[in-house]
Amino acid sequence: FRAKELGRNRFSLFTPQLLEAASSRFKLEQSLRRAVDRGEFDLLYQPQVCFESMRTHSVEALLRWHQPDGQVVLPGEFMEVAERSGVIMDIADWVLESAIATAAQWRAGVWPDGCVAINVSAHQLLTGNFVERLQSLLSKYNLPPSYLEIELTETVLQTGARTIAALKQLRELGVSIALDDFGTGYSSLTSLERLPLTRVKIDRSLPATLDQGARAPAIVRSIIGLSYSLGLQVTAEGVERLSQLGLLLSDRGVQVQGFLVSRPLAAAKVPNFVCGSRQLLEDLLMSAPMPE
Ligand code: C2E
Ligand code: MG
Ligand code: MG
Repeated sequence: FRAKELGRNRFSLFTPQLLEAASSRFKLEQSLRRAVDRGEFDLLYQPQVCFESMRTHSVEALLRWHQPDGQVVLPGEFMEVAERSGVIMDIADWVLESAIATAAQWRAGVWPDGCVAINVSAHQLLTGNFVERLQSLLSKYNLPPSYLEIELTETVLQTGARTIAALKQLRELGVSIALDDFGTGYSSLTSLERLPLTRVKIDRSLPATLDQGARAPAIVRSIIGLSYSLGLQVTAEGVERLSQLGLLLSDRGVQVQGFLVSRPLAAAKVPNFVCGSRQLLEDLLMSAPMPE
């Protein structure tokens, strides 16, 4: 298997480390399976705000795994194993239902126009009846499709025509589709051309160096311009400092997500954030250094 993993047509010698890695992957897979049954997953919601309307536009649902020993595990540590073993399907279904139920609750009460974004892997779009399942959950919770955004990375392109057809179906339903982590991969421009998108999310590695020289601002500006000319909305991810925000604010239509505005929040804390967001955004606007 190691030889296959390394690209096939080669040999690989057994080492004790290989066995350890395989056994720890197996253990992780077993605990992930149990985690679904035991309800150890939770969603946090990170706000995406708009400095034009001075409001919280939406929140992105981010998965957390609360292990029985009290440790909280981030998706980066278990998603790959979840995908490879297929456990992702159970987790993903839980994510979908939980986020839709929560959005419907906000809509009926404190946050009538709040949208929720959900991360979806290419695997999810390919297996099962993703579109039908989504539709049935939306009607179960009585949530209009326009309140939901699906976030994908450009890896969906590698999965071919079936996924693109599923995405088109989602667009026809009225669900929004965001291209996540834009600017990190190799086929970003092809993705813009081929996927039925409504939003581009600029990967946090670009805003990270926004305030450190002239190159990143030039790249970010051109991505924003390109997206607008394609009729797409834009979110800048990973905004942590006022100096980064200042450089983004030359275009107030760009939505902002990052620790500067808010860390991912427990669902119960979202209504409070939404109520206070105008004041927070005004304060941030006052403090952000504007470029000449
Ligand atoms: P993503 O979709 O690009 O999500 C944004 C990640 O950046 C989140 O990490 C968030 O906590 C982090 N982040 C947000 N603002 C800042 C900031 O200002 N600075 C820094 N350093 N980080 C920031 P998280 O929650 O660990 O998620 C990592 C990735 O795991 C996500 O990247 C997404 O691709 C995936 N993921 C999360 N939840 C799910 C899920 O329910 N399903 C699937 N398929 N993937 C998920
Ligand atoms: Mg995302
Ligand atoms: Mg991202």
